[in-house]
Amino acid sequence: MARKKTTSKKKQTAAKTASSAAKKAAPVKAKAEAVEAAAVETAAPVKEVAPVAKEVAPAVKETVPAVKEAAPAVKETAPAAKEVAPAAKKTAPAKSTAARKKAASQKKAPAKEEPVKEAAPVEKAAPAVEEAPVEEAAPAVEEAPVEKAAPIEEAAPAVEEVPVEEAAPAVEEALVEEAAPAVEEAPVEEAAPAVEETPVEEEPVKEEAPVYVPPMPDTPRRSVAFIGSECHPFVKTGGLGDVMYALPRELVKLNCDVRVILPRYGCIPWEYQEKMQYRGAFQMDLGETGRTYYVGIMEYVCDGVVYDFIDNQEFFYVGNPYLNLVDDIPRYCFFSKAALAALNFLNWIPDIVHCHDWQAALVPVYLRTIFKTSPVGRAKSVLTIHNLRFQGVYNIPTIRYWSGLPNEVFTMGALQQNYLDANMLKGGLAYADRITTVSHTYAQEIQTPEYGEGLDAHLRYHSGKLRGIVNGIDYDMWNPATDPSLAVNYGLLDVLQHKWENKLALQRELGLWQDAGKFVIGLISRLTNQKGLDLVNAIIPQVMDGNTQVIVLGTGDKQYEDTFRYYENTYKGMFSACIQYDESRAHRIYAGSDSLLVPSRFEPCGLSQLIDMHYGGLPIVRETGGLKDTVEPYNDQTGGGNGFTFDRYDAGLLLDAINRAKTAYFTNRYHWDEVVQRNMDKDVSWNRSAWQYKDLYLELTRW
Ligand code: ADP
Repeated sequence: MARKKTTSKKKQTAAKTASSAAKKAAPVKAKAEAVEAAAVETAAPVKEVAPVAKEVAPAVKETVPAVKEAAPAVKETAPAAKEVAPAAKKTAPAKSTAARKKAASQKKAPAKEEPVKEAAPVEKAAPAVEEAPVEEAAPAVEEAPVEKAAPIEEAAPAVEEVPVEEAAPAVEEALVEEAAPAVEEAPVEEAAPAVEETPVEEEPVKEEAPVYVPPMPDTPRRSVAFIGSECHPFVKTGGLGDVMYALPRELVKLNCDVRVILPRYGCIPWEYQEKMQYRGAFQMDLGETGRTYYVGIMEYVCDGVVYDFIDNQEFFYVGNPYLNLVDDIPRYCFFSKAALAALNFLNWIPDIVHCHDWQAALVPVYLRTIFKTSPVGRAKSVLTIHNLRFQGVYNIPTIRYWSGLPNEVFTMGALQQNYLDANMLKGGLAYADRITTVSHTYAQEIQTPEYGEGLDAHLRYHSGKLRGIVNGIDYDMWNPATDPSLAVNYGLLDVLQHKWENKLALQRELGLWQDAGKFVIGLISRLTNQKGLDLVNAIIPQVMDGNTQVIVLGTGDKQYEDTFRYYENTYKGMFSACIQYDESRAHRIYAGSDSLLVPSRFEPCGLSQLIDMHYGGLPIVRETGGLKDTVEPYNDQTGGGNGFTFDRYDAGLLLDAINRAKTAYFTNRYHWDEVVQRNMDKDVSWNRSAWQYKDLYLELTRW
């Protein structure tokens, strides 16, 4: 199993070209990244510029002059697409051999790679709206180079008209009575043919040979299309990538027919790009851009799961999945629509469309509006929130411009967030048939103002269709008995003999004092505020008592990176700060440490505490979200529980939890070792979660 992190190297030149279309048309928010502001300042063919944005832009211009070139005028868009389309049919975007080799050889090196994580979206930018440049946007250049425009809908064989009962999203009562979207009544006439798919070629679709037929349990068959923005091992920046990888594989074992639909980013490693098969292409219009866009479908089949990559180099040539909102809003509007159009094109109509996070949140909205009368319109939709913090918020004209969604969805009950902004996730939540999030506790928490990220009222209103299903970990990828990264492999029966050998090897690797008797605490995390690192920083001096070692692995905010480097320098031989993204090293830290620290401010599910338990650790966690659902507090009287927990977000309570862990480790090793074995035996696999998702699908499709 590939474990390589699919980071991308910079492809500046390509980036400039590829994102120019987005930059030019998309207006900006004032507090958006410097890059965005610069781009907009030059590029956006705006009629009126909001004052705030005006202030920001000049300052930025100096900082990032290069970006100005990236956003040259609108007229360039169409030709760009033209160039791109043919190239897209080939398997691989240019990627230097050196870069590929580097990615492949990352295994043991203390990789200095920049994590893709860094590119986390910047949604929370401040408002400041500019006018949508609709009129001035690219002059409709019809570039469909095609012989005959045969819209897919016609081509698709008649699909029984399954009634789409719940088309109209429930509107929050308090908000807009008169605005009730009543999608059914909405004249979607002009929207219906929105997907003008014009086959680019008449190349017959080549059927993949079925690869792997697992034994099927006795559960009805369902077909599911997963739609999301990342998936291990192709591209991953966080937990979403893990879920998109592991859940479909488990569902296949539960009698599901699964297709995963992803963007074909330039950063997908060559080893996968070269195995993709061309499945066809068509032209699709998009929003109010007045032009059509190439949509290629590249397919890769692995372990019974079919991966369909939406190919359009204009949007996805740039390596990283997340750039900035100026680019991301258009590319994920395009992606959401193209994913549904591709299902129609492939004539593969799923029972369920399961979409993930804001990047795919428009899918349920499209499904009940523009695609309502097309074959895929019969599918039910599930939207999973992996992290509510990211919502895809931008000004209404821009989202209307790129999505082409009808007016009735821009209401307070659906996409509209306030007078100025639209919120893609909010719209998806309103239109989805079911909403899930990745733990039961997080499902409750997000309905409160403290964790609701501004959507708590909306979520409370839709709580009837909301439920929490906790994630699992992939036992093939995370198995201490076979893990090739470890110094010594071990299992449930010999963990007590061999775990300490991994501790010694880890201490040697990191230049720490080699002493198996030390209490080793690991911290493997993005270094961001969400992860409770301010609490950790506050108590490190009290934790470092001479018998305790701390190992940090992560990248993120510079302030935390620097603080941890400082501690490494201060507590030589006892503190190690690995400021890097290194999956292989992460495996060795899980195996070599006694406890993992996860004191998050909020944690939708959290995978690291599950991995830690599976590797025989006793995690120290804050009782929030999935941490609360998966780690039972240790009871020093009975020896029960899985780890050490604290409730309020408070440094003193964290220190107390760490001290309780130390006490148990140093004074009650018998109980400690029992918990080690119990944790390794605990079922944290995907299988359990997959059954819950399957039940949900069956609940939605009773026939
Ligand atoms: P989030 O998705 O919020 O980042 P999760 O706990 O759900 O947090 O998932 C984090 C995953 O990323 C875990 O598998 C963890 O091991 C891995 N990870 C985090 N930081 C690093 C790093 N610097 N190097 C290697 N793996 C990392």
